[in-house]
Amino acid sequence: MRAITVIPGQQGSVALTDMPEPPDEDGPILVQTQAVGICGTDLEIIGGEYGSAPPGQDRLVIGHESLGRVAEAAPGTGFGAGDLVVGIVRRRDPVPCPACAAGHWDMCMNGQYTERGIKGRHGYASERYRIHPEYLVAVDPALGILGVLLEPTTVVAKAWDHIEKIGRRAAWAPEKVLITGAGPIGLLAALLATQRGYQTYVLDRVTEGRKPEMVRRLGATYVHSEDLGEAAAEADIVIECTGHLQMLLEAGPQHVRYRIICLTGVSAAGAEANVDPGLLNRNMVLQNSVLFGSVNANRHHYELAAKALAQADSGWLGDLITRQVPLDQWTDAYARQPDDIKTILNFPGASP
Ligand code: BGC
Repeated sequence: MRAITVIPGQQGSVALTDMPEPPDEDGPILVQTQAVGICGTDLEIIGGEYGSAPPGQDRLVIGHESLGRVAEAAPGTGFGAGDLVVGIVRRRDPVPCPACAAGHWDMCMNGQYTERGIKGRHGYASERYRIHPEYLVAVDPALGILGVLLEPTTVVAKAWDHIEKIGRRAAWAPEKVLITGAGPIGLLAALLATQRGYQTYVLDRVTEGRKPEMVRRLGATYVHSEDLGEAAAEADIVIECTGHLQMLLEAGPQHVRYRIICLTGVSAAGAEANVDPGLLNRNMVLQNSVLFGSVNANRHHYELAAKALAQADSGWLGDLITRQVPLDQWTDAYARQPDDIKTILNFPGASP
C-alpha cells in the first residue's frame, strides 16, 4: 500500500513509498484512511528535526491527524464496517508508569510512550492501518470530512481541561481569555473559549486574510501583535499557541491576579529572549499565577473534543480547512502557502 514516509532525522527523505500491508498485531480493526491533516509537527519531522521510526525499521509512516472508515472489524470490538473513525496518537509506555496505567498516557512519566506517525510507531498517512479498539474513536457521521479536525481539537480540549482543573484550586471567576496565535490550534482554542462564554482575544502577526475573519466570526476580538496591551493586561487565562514566548513575556508588567497561562506551542531551544526573571517571579508569586505546559491528549479529551466539534458551526469548521490535496499531488500538501490554516491530504476512495 502507499504511504507518506520519512527516514527520521534525514531532511529531504519524505516520499510516497510502497509499504507492507498493516500487520495483524497492530489490532483487529482495519481502517481505510480518508484524510490526514498536516501540522507543524509533520513539517518538523519532514525537516529531519523530530520523530523516530519503529524499532528495527528505517522509515516512519507519518500522519497523526487522521480520519478513516472501518473496512473490517472483528466481532466484539464495538466497531463495524463503514464507521467513521479517528485513531488516537499516543500509546502507553510498556512499563507502564502510574499515569499510563491509569489511561493518562498524555502525562507519561518515563518518556517511553510511543506516538503514531511521530515517535517509534507508524502513523496514519497510509492507505490502510490496523488498530486496537482502545485507541480508536467513533466520529459522528454528520461531521464528515470535518472529523479530520478531531485530533488538533483534542490538544486544546486537554489544555482547557487542565486550565479548569487548576482553576478549581480556589474560587475563581475568569472573564477574559487571550490566545496567542491564529493557526489551527489557536483558532480551535478560541472556539472552545467562546463555547465557554469567555470574552476572547486572539493575537497574531497578520493584519488581513482568513485568520482575522475566522476570529471575528467566533464573536472574538482579533488583536494584531503590535496592539497587545489591553488584551494582555486583562486576560485571566492565556493560551500560548505559537511557541514564541517573547510576545507573552513582554506583557509582564500588567500581569493580572490569579492568571493561568498554558503553553501549547513548542519552541526551539536556544531562542533569544529578554526575560526579566525577577519580574516573572513577582508576577507568578504575588498574583498566585500558574504557568504550565500541555501536550497530547488521552481518550477523555477525544470525547470532549468530539462534543466541542459537534456544537460548533460546521461552516466555520469547514473554513479552517483551507486546502484539500489529493494523494497523487502530496508534495503540494506539505508546501506551506501564506493563507493556509489547515491543509489536508485526501486518500483515494475517500467518501466521508
Ligand atoms: C501532536 C501530539 C503530540 C505532539 C508531540 C503534536 O503535533 O498533536 O499528539 O503529542 O505533537 O509529539
